[in-house]
Amino acid sequence: MNAEIIAVGSELLLGQITNTNARFISGHLAEIGINVYYHTVVGDNPERLKETIAVAESRADLIIFSGGLGPTKDDLTKQTIAHHLGTTLSMDDSAMESIAAFFERAGRPMTDNNKKQALVLAGSEVLVNENGMAPGMMYQNGDHMYMLLPGPPHELEPMFQFEAKPKLVRMLNEENVILSHVLRFYGIGEAELEDRLQDILDKQTNPTIAPLASAGEVTLRITAKTDTTDEAWKLIDGAKEEILERVGDYLYGYDDDSLASKAIDLLKQQGKTVSAAESLTAGLFQSELASVAGASAVLNGGVVTYNEQMKIQQLGMIQEFFKEHSVVSEETAAAMAEAVREKFNTDISVSLTGAAGPDAHGEEPAGTVWIGIASAEGTTAHRLQLSGMRNTNRIRAVKLALYYLIR
Ligand code: ATP
Ligand code: MG
Repeated sequence: MNAEIIAVGSELLLGQITNTNARFISGHLAEIGINVYYHTVVGDNPERLKETIAVAESRADLIIFSGGLGPTKDDLTKQTIAHHLGTTLSMDDSAMESIAAFFERAGRPMTDNNKKQALVLAGSEVLVNENGMAPGMMYQNGDHMYMLLPGPPHELEPMFQFEAKPKLVRMLNEENVILSHVLRFYGIGEAELEDRLQDILDKQTNPTIAPLASAGEVTLRITAKTDTTDEAWKLIDGAKEEILERVGDYLYGYDDDSLASKAIDLLKQQGKTVSAAESLTAGLFQSELASVAGASAVLNGGVVTYNEQMKIQQLGMIQEFFKEHSVVSEETAAAMAEAVREKFNTDISVSLTGAAGPDAHGEEPAGTVWIGIASAEGTTAHRLQLSGMRNTNRIRAVKLALYYLIR
């Protein structure tokens, strides 16, 4: 099965919003082995939308629409599709229930105008909207499946992920089992990883192996398509073994793991707590840890000490120290880590100081970062020389600091 995503909305063409819906849907379709060959964006114009649908029908089995399901004049996706397919819209009981349930949750009365949103393509399967009014729908017509989703990402994302995707998986599983498994690596570049796995990547057909790199991390998604789940796992495990023989040293996790979730897991296992003193990352490190459910079991807290004065005031460092040592130095990173460990009474503490860029910090070139780690075993500080843009450097510094926690 291959898919095309059509995002409807003039605001996308005007550059007012980014097409994050297509990115979101594509990511999930890749997970279940549905190939996406085209993303299309079209304005709120029925003629151009019809042309776009006709083109999509010529090259895709599954056509997914985002946007234009609302009650206003410019929302014309379902009307246009109905017209194009020569079918009608009909009032759907489950869509009406879904809208009524939305109003009940919101504690507001439902108006007649809102009832119009219960109109769906006659004969379609309704996708419940837990976060808004307009229901989504899936409609099979001949060889084509049409899926209509609301534009707002907070409505579309859960609807697609939790309602539509499982239905697609069920449809696919009537023919095939498709399983995918993600291997997560840190400390090796995408080019080097691919280089080491070149022959494996060249010969892959089933399972397929797809590399993806982002901010210092590389993932490999292994996807197998076959008759039974056991058979699919056998294919995946075979490929995984071959891959890990060569680059297993860099593996840090699987599937939904992140460096932060692995760090939290490990600290929990060890019964240890952590704190942080952050300069260039200004809280990003703590925020990453706190994004993991259950972080409070290990993260005591920390400080953002962005300038020298705050390092003195918050961390009890002294003026004389900074006459001898740069704010971006091994000594400062070590002293910050030790001070915050004491202040927050934790087993381990992390400090981050550096020149995020684009400007140098005195003698230290842009992208210089020092990461300090203090624990009962002592204190170490590690230098990192980055060359990216300011915020990429800040994210990479956080990832390395998290990596020190799990190493
Ligand atoms: P509503 O009932 O809110 O009108 P709708 O289904 O009619 O929803 P649109 O009117 O097309 O959807 O878009 C509503 C909002 O959703 C847009 O203003 C925009 O903020 C967001 N949105 C729409 N399409 C996309 C997209 N492709 N990617 C990200 N956000 C989008
Ligand atoms: Mg709208």
